[in-house]
Amino acid sequence: MQETVFTKIRDGVIPSVKLYEDDKCFVIMDINPIVKGHSLVIAKEPYKNMGECPEDVLFDMMKVARMMDKKLREVLCCDGTNVLINNDPASGQEVPHIHIHVIPRFKDDGRKFGFTHDKYEEGEMISLGSRLRLG
Ligand code: AMP
Repeated sequence: MQETVFTKIRDGVIPSVKLYEDDKCFVIMDINPIVKGHSLVIAKEPYKNMGECPEDVLFDMMKVARMMDKKLREVLCCDGTNVLINNDPASGQEVPHIHIHVIPRFKDDGRKFGFTHDKYEEGEMISLGSRLRLG
């Protein structure tokens, strides 16, 4: 598998502030935080995206993201968190190695995502929904 900035952090080649580690993932503080305390839950192996990442690893990462959410609330007294994965470069992923962002949020912290919204044509949501149904 390919080397990434996160495999280098995992291996101690690049320094980091590490918050947690188990056999499937580890947590570091993001060097360029959206809000101070912004943390990254990173798979130990450099799977590029959710599709490549084995389910057990993804489940463990989500469990750890939940632990991180709890810790951020306890220590920073934040009011909420954004928990998100940028899944491939088209979504804004810069490091091609799956990770979950856990970003502390405070009421009135002024941070906003830059998304604009699409609008469905008449009947389009229903027809698209019929193609997107799971199972
Ligand atoms: P993404 O755009 O989802 O791939 O996010 C990558 C994140 O990794 C960004 O928020 C970066 O600030 C963060 N990052 C990149 N290099 C480092 C590093 N050496 N230590 C900590 N965080 C990093």
